Amino acid sequence: VQNPREVDVLILGAGTAGMAAYRAAVAVTPRVALVEAGSFGTTCAKVGCMPSKLLLAAAEAAHAVERAHLFGAGEPGRAHVDGRRVMARVRGERDRFVGFVTRAVDDFPAEHKILGRARFLDAHTVAVGDERIGAKAVVIATGSRPRVPAMLEGLGDRLVVNDDIFSWEELPRSLVVFGLGIIGLELGQALARLGVRVRLFGARGHVGPLTDPAVRDAALGAFREELCLDPDPRVLEVRREGDGVEVRFVEGGREIKERFDLALAATGRAPNVDRLDLERTGLALDARGLPRFDRATMQCGASSIFLAGDVNDDRPLLHEAADEGKVAGDNAARFPEVRPGPRRTPIAVVFTDPQMALIGETWAEVKERAPVVGAASFEDQGRSRVMLQNRGLLHVYAERGSGRLLGAEMAGPRAEHLGHLLAWAHQQRLTVEQMLGMPFYHPVIEEGLRTALRDAAAQLSR
Ligand SMILES: Cc1cc2nc3c(=O)[nH]c(=O)nc-3n(C[C@H](O)[C@H](O)[C@H](O)COP(=O)(O)OP(=O)(O)OC[C@H]3O[C@@H](n4cnc5c(N)ncnc54)[C@H](O)[C@@H]3O)c2cc1C
Repeated sequence: VQNPREVDVLILGAGTAGMAAYRAAVAVTPRVALVEAGSFGTTCAKVGCMPSKLLLAAAEAAHAVERAHLFGAGEPGRAHVDGRRVMARVRGERDRFVGFVTRAVDDFPAEHKILGRARFLDAHTVAVGDERIGAKAVVIATGSRPRVPAMLEGLGDRLVVNDDIFSWEELPRSLVVFGLGIIGLELGQALARLGVRVRLFGARGHVGPLTDPAVRDAALGAFREELCLDPDPRVLEVRREGDGVEVRFVEGGREIKERFDLALAATGRAPNVDRLDLERTGLALDARGLPRFDRATMQCGASSIFLAGDVNDDRPLLHEAADEGKVAGDNAARFPEVRPGPRRTPIAVVFTDPQMALIGETWAEVKERAPVVGAASFEDQGRSRVMLQNRGLLHVYAERGSGRLLGAEMAGPRAEHLGHLLAWAHQQRLTVEQMLGMPFYHPVIEEGLRTALRDAAAQLSR
């Protein structure tokens, strides 16, 4: 063991949160080090947000070709998909995004970067291989990794996680997806639209992150039109069979056996805390092995340890990781002077078709307060119908009395954009009346939002 290196701030993990923490910390002190166990480039760019959106973009293109005949263009039938070219574009563009990140890391001074897996020796000392680093404060930004349920463990190389998909050279013929969360639905639908035979199994009826039963049902109805999916399945057995996967499940009271090339585990993600030897820090850990932390300061108790990004299992989204990293890095550098950072209105978007969005407080969070629920179906919404995207439902939740927007859930066309409008309105603490005083063009999908707001306004005035 060499002499310990001493820094003011040590950051574990060079993902989005870790890089944001690094930038915030070096603005205060040059005595900073950033440890990365894998490779630089971030989960978002390498195997997360960006490559998944690239795959979805290819799927949307194929889907548009297949539906063109509904507008009187082209002939009905499957689009010809060249899996090799699809994956070449996904990988090529992905590598371009990763390149931007790694070039940014290249600009960090070499003495600030340490490659290797970090683990705690005590609250102020971390080991990376043979090296020991002493730190006044530590930011843990080690992210999360796919969780593989025991049922899928015997599948060997027939089991894939999101990371594997984005290095494929070509598309498999068939895939069974376990998990109807954001990742399972996005990747499952994209691959199905690219011609892969896909079947999806969820759990306990969940559809993405939706908590509003009516919105969930609308989403489910739309997905069922094109996907083989069961949100609450009875899967009897999953086993490796030759060079494939055999799944035994019950459908419509009948037992069915179906064979697939591969199985995708999209059954949630586990925070990367288990290999950090966190128990040596003296922090009290919960059942997940996570220390309690303050989501305004990112500080764990009164300690000099901060937790940012997916690793804290709070809001595992890119923009939250960036915000949390910045707050954690700044506070770690100023420790013991710790101050709360700004938190924005929560927004989550799922890039399926129809898209899904959750803004502000979810139905699960507001329902006890019995808010007014303004609804708009997209079935007969003008512009949605023009584009043949007239599926889905929007629910906005408004506080009785004040009329303030509390939150919203939706499944429908362009939810990514409606979601932003709603999030901005929510963060400005607007009321339904104030939102209705804003301009609405014609004919646009935003008129669907106006329908929901008018519905809420009518109920509020009663
Ligand atoms: C398929 C997929 C699609 C997604 N799509 C979206 C999306 O559309 N929009 C969105 O907002 N979010 C999306 N996300 C979520 C988003 O990618 C994450 O919220 C974000 O990347 C988290 O950043 P992070 O810095 O916390 O973790 P990461 O970027 O994972 O960084 C953690 C780093 O820590 C390193 N590390 C781990 N253990 C150690 C250790 N002991 N020592 C040193 N280093 C260690 C890891 O190697 C890694 O580089 C998606 C995620 C996935 C998987």
